[in-house]
Amino acid sequence: MKKWECTVCGYIHAGEEPPEICPVCGADKSKFIEVTDAEEKKTSTGSQAKPSSESEKKASKETKSGEKQQPAEKTFWENLYSVSTRLILKHHAHPVSVHVPNGMLPASVLFVFLAVIFDFYQLELASYYNTIFVLLVMPVVMFTGYVEWKKHYGGNLTTVFIIKISSAVIVLLSVLIVVIWRTANPEIALVDSPGRMIYLGIWVVMLAAAGVAGYFGGKLVFKD
Ligand code: FE
Repeated sequence: MKKWECTVCGYIHAGEEPPEICPVCGADKSKFIEVTDAEEKKTSTGSQAKPSSESEKKASKETKSGEKQQPAEKTFWENLYSVSTRLILKHHAHPVSVHVPNGMLPASVLFVFLAVIFDFYQLELASYYNTIFVLLVMPVVMFTGYVEWKKHYGGNLTTVFIIKISSAVIVLLSVLIVVIWRTANPEIALVDSPGRMIYLGIWVVMLAAAGVAGYFGGKLVFKD
């Protein structure tokens, strides 16, 4: 039986034809290449040097052609970007940082709803502080996710990445709205008002978007 590899996420499909859509990342059939057992063995031993992005492919092509490499002068910001992306990828900074919102947001939502039900001010306050912390971490989560997407998945905008990016933007906006609203009106969750249902609804949207991003992130990591 033939084997096909998704060039975006590395998923391996066994069958006469590649699948119409990659079940892991949502890439279409054209992104699949046939792999032989020898190639697969080479890949699994970690000896592959498959360039993961267009720039890396270009770089390796230039080297193969034997052209003299001119070391390009890098600016301070280019150097900083290159060092930080290397560290982000080496230490898996995206899955590490994403545990902050994925852990704290469900707790914050639970706290705010328990606070509403039991009229418990301290829980509501804890939820507010948690959310401020999530807001501070979100730029790190999004930047590390961007770096990982560019380097490991070649910046391909497949269905799964469109969903993940949209979910991250929804989480960021929801957290931002909640923090601004709660700062402007500290009684918004505990005192009945026409805006309270909308405010609580934003919490639910935030939790759902974080859940969706986490679910598809898990699919990409575990390839199932
Ligand atoms: Fe894929």
